[in-house]
Amino acid sequence: CGIIGRVGDGNALEPLLTGLENLEYRGYDSAGIAVQNGTGIDVQKRSGKVDELKRSIGDTPIEGEVGIGHTRWSTHGPPTDENAHPHTDETKDVAVVHNGIIENYADLKSELAEYGHTFTSDTDTEVIPHLIQYYLDDGLDNEAAFRRAIDDLEGSYAVTAMLSGEHVLYAARQGSPLVVGIEDGEYFLASDVPAFLEYTDSVVYLEDGDVVIVDDEGATFSDLAGNPVTRESETVEWDP
Ligand code: GLU
Repeated sequence: CGIIGRVGDGNALEPLLTGLENLEYRGYDSAGIAVQNGTGIDVQKRSGKVDELKRSIGDTPIEGEVGIGHTRWSTHGPPTDENAHPHTDETKDVAVVHNGIIENYADLKSELAEYGHTFTSDTDTEVIPHLIQYYLDDGLDNEAAFRRAIDDLEGSYAVTAMLSGEHVLYAARQGSPLVVGIEDGEYFLASDVPAFLEYTDSVVYLEDGDVVIVDDEGATFSDLAGNPVTRESETVEWDP
């Protein structure tokens, strides 16, 4: 339902939680975030409101400069803590948030299960971090593993992924909106512009089939095969 991602200096926690609150108007049943904590990926997620997520994070504060967040509107699996996004692979090296529906998730899940992957949720989304991990195990680098995983998906999606140990977010769009927000030294990904408007009004809208890779230097746009595409930034009008 709602996606927020952030790369920059300082703690990502506040922009992520602000983003989730800004996306509440879309409706949702669960919320969660994942941040790079320096040694790995920390995930906090639960069914219920962003306020409840904030309360549970309050007890165990987490910190990191790169992170992703999600408000979930369940399509596959009931609104439980386990089914909330972000989803990870078993080693928690990969975290993913996803809007939309992966039509071929059952086939992908049983193929991955044959390779020894075990799943902890009922969602269609969980196959995505497992696919990325599968291709990493196969020897692909992070970017190539992300592209291969996205190439395996059928259906509609806005996907944002984060891999342990790097200041990078990977995102792809097919049939579900995704925008990039650009500020000096701070970059955002979101399903919808209001998610990050306190931080920047400079946005780039992705088109279907686009992949964007966001790091400390900026956003790089390409098609799924890796051919560069040009996407212009525009300034959005905003009356708070
Ligand atoms: N199909 C996914 C799920 O049920 C994503 C739903 C959404 O767009 O929030 O978890």
